[in-house]
Amino acid sequence: MADSQVVIVGAGQAGLALSHELTGMGVDHVVLERRRIGETWRRRWDSFCLVTPNWTMDLPGFPYAGDDPQGFVPRDEIVAYLERYAASFRAPVQAGVEVQGMEAAAGGGFRLRTSAGDVHARQVVLATGAYQRPHRPSVASTFPSRILAIDAEDYTSPGALPPGQVLVVGSGQTGCQLSEDLCAAGREVSLACGRAPWGPRRLAGLDIVDWLSRTTWFEFPLSALPTPLARLTANIQLTGRNGGHDLHYRVLRAMGVRLLGHLEAVEGSRARFAPDLAQSVAFGDQRYAEMCAMLRKQLPAAGFDVPELPVPPPFVADPSLEIDLDGFGAVIFTAGFRPDYARWVHFPAFDPWGFPLAVDCASTVVPGLHFVGVHFLRTRRSSLMFGVGEDAAVVARSLVAPPPIASEGPAVP
Ligand SMILES: Cc1cc2nc3c(=O)[nH]c(=O)nc-3n(C[C@H](O)[C@H](O)[C@H](O)COP(=O)(O)OP(=O)(O)OC[C@H]3O[C@@H](n4cnc5c(N)ncnc54)[C@H](O)[C@@H]3O)c2cc1C
Repeated sequence: MADSQVVIVGAGQAGLALSHELTGMGVDHVVLERRRIGETWRRRWDSFCLVTPNWTMDLPGFPYAGDDPQGFVPRDEIVAYLERYAASFRAPVQAGVEVQGMEAAAGGGFRLRTSAGDVHARQVVLATGAYQRPHRPSVASTFPSRILAIDAEDYTSPGALPPGQVLVVGSGQTGCQLSEDLCAAGREVSLACGRAPWGPRRLAGLDIVDWLSRTTWFEFPLSALPTPLARLTANIQLTGRNGGHDLHYRVLRAMGVRLLGHLEAVEGSRARFAPDLAQSVAFGDQRYAEMCAMLRKQLPAAGFDVPELPVPPPFVADPSLEIDLDGFGAVIFTAGFRPDYARWVHFPAFDPWGFPLAVDCASTVVPGLHFVGVHFLRTRRSSLMFGVGEDAAVVARSLVAPPPIASEGPAVP
């Protein structure tokens, strides 16, 4: 069995940022990646662009070096940035090695069962993604079999779908962006909408991410969320496509996307939707109003003028409650993601929703086990390119100076 002091699982931005920190400290480690560096970004659809501005490609020791910090690079340039990053410090990535199971090793430490054989590690860091397993509502299985039903990660481009109308189920960032992609290609799109926050792309010519970075928005800690479930709330509806622009319900409707309520049921060739579109729009407007209130309060305190904050026009919702699926060729589920650790990590180290039980990225259940890159692991920025470096530094420090109990290895559950 191969032996390593530290094994990092996953070579996305989180695993690489940590590897960078450990390399700098001279800590022996290896990064096991089931496919390729930056695989999650590679699997996004063809027209995908970064949603946060280019300057946020700011992993430790490797700031954005291009000439368009306020732009939004396309998918392949994000991947290229991660590849350059890994090469810049010779990250010890073993690509094509999937970790299929993890348990306590008899003599202490961890035994990782991988597609390339067993590996023993004193300490393990799971960097397997902020958005691990696509969530499909239970109604998903009831669509007629002649309609192609896929998750967002299997969507590439409008031309790859069968002809006909498309139903997109879920209206977070991904659902809105896929609806735009399809609509721009001349496809008829219906969007089953849920509750998601929105915001303007720019205020007074500056990106919303820049404005929010001047406040405590991205520092918002997990402990301040009203419930642990709130970490499943969608990110702000926005896009970086075509230079970046607003992409919320009002914009999509003006584009010609048919907005519907939550998908409730499919009966034969009819799909039924809840009469809740107005409430979903109101939810987003309320979150926007709260964001405006925060900007008004915090910007002056930080020495900035408050930009003009546009008031959304009234939204009259009169959606169809039922549609005929006969003309539809595809349905795409974009109803969020769930953690997937419990499937292969054989420790009771997760909350009822599958998120790690952790403080400062260290498992509170299993000594020697750490996490990085999880949505709201420490703060709102934990899963973002310009936030994960901070968490990686916290993990690196903890790995070299673990609490005393960690030297005894994990408890066998
Ligand atoms: C639609 C969308 C748009 C986004 N836009 C932005 C944005 O504009 N800016 C931003 O900062 N963030 C954005 N994010 C968030 C960001 O993409 C993710 O948070 C980011 O990919 C997380 O990085 P990560 O390294 O934690 O995980 P990932 O990039 O998902 O990397 C995890 C890696 O682990 C590997 N892996 C998983 N399981 C195993 C296993 N068992 N064995 C071995 N390897 C394994 C995977 O193959 C993968 O390469 C976006 C997210 C989504 C869904």
